[in-house]
Amino acid sequence: MTLKEKILVVEDEKDLVRLIRYNLEKEKFRIISAGDAETGLVMARKAKPDLIILDIMLPKMDGLDFLRSLRKESQVPVVLLTAKRSELDRILGLKLGADDYIVKPFSVGELHARVEALLRRVNQPANAGGDAKPVAIGALEVDFERHEIRVKGKRAELTPKEFELLKLLIEANGKVLSRDQLLERIWGHGKDMEIDTRTVDQHIARLRHKLKSESVRIATVTNFGYQIKMN
Ligand code: CA
Repeated sequence: MTLKEKILVVEDEKDLVRLIRYNLEKEKFRIISAGDAETGLVMARKAKPDLIILDIMLPKMDGLDFLRSLRKESQVPVVLLTAKRSELDRILGLKLGADDYIVKPFSVGELHARVEALLRRVNQPANAGGDAKPVAIGALEVDFERHEIRVKGKRAELTPKEFELLKLLIEANGKVLSRDQLLERIWGHGKDMEIDTRTVDQHIARLRHKLKSESVRIATVTNFGYQIKMN
């Protein structure tokens, strides 16, 4: 049995820690935990986890201060747990360097999906084999290494999510990808979550708009998903 990545859970609610530990250990992750931020910081330094699940509401030093201190010394991916959706906007505004956010209460399935998606994202080497080479599809040029695209030689600005979407479609090489597949691979969400497949449609719409004359390359497969026309 090979164990997967080591995850540090910083949370003072013991029942929640137990629940996370039980479910992620079942998925072969190694789980360590700390009930307060100070202990968490010591463990982050000593145990060098591959990912941290961090609650904002902690005794004494809160999760946001933890994250501020952590980011001075480490870029380990962090999933932030927040108790309120309203709190989320404020946190996003602070740009503290969390990599993903989950609003409580959440299902362990959702947490697991997010953890897997985040680890996949950070474990992807910047220069991932063949796909680092720029590709040209008609008048569309995509430089995976620089995260740049050009349409008829003119640079178009894509958001990271739009770029990932385009990259997945190109990697699928004309194969149809369902909305659920795209949602899961880019947002790390399963079917029971608040962000739904319309998010995919909205991003595709914006991506098409930016691809201008090449927008026709992204074809809609009714009631299913999308594909890219490679030629
Ligand atoms: Ca808490």
